[in-house]
Amino acid sequence: MKAMVVRAARGPLTLEKREVPKPGPGQVRVRVHACGVCHSDVLVHDGIWPGLQLPRVPGHEIAGTIDAVGAGVTRFEVGRRVGIGWHGGYCNRCNACAEGDHPLCEAGWITAISSDGGYAEYVVADSTAVAIIPDEITFADAAPLLCAGVTTFNALRHSPARPGNLVAIQGIGGLGHLGVQFARAMGFRVAALTSGRDKAALATKLGANLVVDTKTEDVTAALQRQGGASVILATAPDAASISKLVPALGRSGTLVVVAAPLEPMQVSALDLIGQRRRIQGWPSGDAQDSTETMAFAALHGIRPMIETFPLERANDAYAHMLEGRARFRAVIEA
Ligand SMILES: [Zn+2]
Ligand SMILES: [Zn+2]
Repeated sequence: MKAMVVRAARGPLTLEKREVPKPGPGQVRVRVHACGVCHSDVLVHDGIWPGLQLPRVPGHEIAGTIDAVGAGVTRFEVGRRVGIGWHGGYCNRCNACAEGDHPLCEAGWITAISSDGGYAEYVVADSTAVAIIPDEITFADAAPLLCAGVTTFNALRHSPARPGNLVAIQGIGGLGHLGVQFARAMGFRVAALTSGRDKAALATKLGANLVVDTKTEDVTAALQRQGGASVILATAPDAASISKLVPALGRSGTLVVVAAPLEPMQVSALDLIGQRRRIQGWPSGDAQDSTETMAFAALHGIRPMIETFPLERANDAYAHMLEGRARFRAVIEA
């Protein structure tokens, strides 16, 4: 099979011919049709993730069909349209699993970090990492839903916001353009925090009720005029911009951080205490969360905006993502 491989940290991806992997007990093999390029791929590409071993095939937004199943797998059959996201499955032995909290399984299996990912024609995955793609959704559209999609959908549906509340989505990019659509379909009053006229027009088209230009407008003043946001979902990985969002929250408002800037954030304790505000992180979700994300997207006609690249052009797709040129998700097709 063909695979695009990180051989050395920060080096270009190299095209390799590899043996098609065999699924072990409890695993499935997926013929990959599409794989999204996520900002978190930087962790593999630059060799940043602690304990990461190279060479490694990146890619954790994988959509395809099951083409072989290992011993003991009864839930899935060959031919099933499935997806695999960041969450690489769960062990069923740890304390988190005992409490049913599979996304926080202590085994910490991560697709494309613990094992090879989807910048390839085939991938092997634990069956507990496998989500179902509805028939209405193409493989290329499903791919970004398996990370950017489940991350924003899950963070929003578990947030304290209720229908009619003001929810702001910071950043209209790979995550944010899906966040706006999910937030609108969930019945929130949606504010998009972005800059530039083209993104403002697009955010409105995607369902934003209000667009605040972060370059020319005072975000705090704009959201406080509306009573303050119940929830702000931070999707753009910029620590300084995220730090400035706390005062734009309303009473008991929550800043939900799903973007992962590498620099620390800085907030004033007084901005938190006086209005009983809080800051929370949210880690995408497990395979069942991804299944529910895609089912919700099918129900409401929610789709990512994507640019596709053939597998051999994975370096171009990655550069597109890194330089913020992708509108809005680069997807590799194999
Ligand atoms: Zn991702
Ligand atoms: Zn576990």
